[in-house]
Amino acid sequence: MSTSILCVGTELLLGQIDDTNSGYLGRVLADKGIESFEQRKIGDNFSRIKSTVISMLENSDSIIIAGGLGPTHDDITREVVSDVMGAEMVLDIDAEKNMRDIFSRRKREMPQVNLRQAMVPVGAQIIPNENGTAPGLICPIQINGKTKYAFLVPGFPHELKPMVENTIIPFILSKEKTHHVIVNRTLKSWGIPESELSETLENIIEECESGQVKIGFLARGINGIYIKLSTKALCIIKWSVHK
Ligand code: ATP
Ligand code: MG
Repeated sequence: MSTSILCVGTELLLGQIDDTNSGYLGRVLADKGIESFEQRKIGDNFSRIKSTVISMLENSDSIIIAGGLGPTHDDITREVVSDVMGAEMVLDIDAEKNMRDIFSRRKREMPQVNLRQAMVPVGAQIIPNENGTAPGLICPIQINGKTKYAFLVPGFPHELKPMVENTIIPFILSKEKTHHVIVNRTLKSWGIPESELSETLENIIEECESGQVKIGFLARGINGIYIKLSTKALCIIKWSVHK
């Protein structure tokens, strides 16, 4: 099941916050052999988020949407996705209880606006949040007659990471009939310009590109040129039954 990544927040477009979530998500998906189709960033704008989600789900089987799950009016990821699903939003009693417990542990009264975070589109599954108030969501969405999935997670890295590693990745892998591994190797060269290196390796590049191995060059300044090799292979799991 291929996956794309969308980070939501006007502050990301303005460069007020560095987007470290995309890099983390790309790495953790690759590590599990899950194909990343694309990554994008979008501001807190209903119609732009909506058209971006639809277009990304047309290209890919699922999408991880990070951010926009806060309690304030500008956090609208839940509303956009429920609109794309064509589903009503309802108050989830467990999510509300979890939030009330968090506030009472902190000995603070819960502002009414926080209830927005317990609103869930009908048909969505909740991902519990170990480190904050906004639950994540697994939302099935019909796109061109096919069931695709939007995974909604908060933007805070310490809230997002356990949801991705403990729930979203196992969910994606459970939908795959076969599992893959992606293997990367880096060869380091020094003193040969990139164009000359590419000419020297022309035959090898051709051989790689016509087969299963992708080859790319990365200019690293004083560290020379890195030659990046990557391949994706089917992972054969041998099951043994112990009696
Ligand atoms: P709220 O808006 O109420 O804070 P939220 O669920 O909408 O909650 P975001 O707005 O996306 O979450 O972000 C909350 C915080 O998470 C940001 O202040 C920032 O510190 C961090 N954050 C958000 N997006 C990213 C990102 N792409 N990379 C790294 N950190 C991020
Ligand atoms: Mg936000």
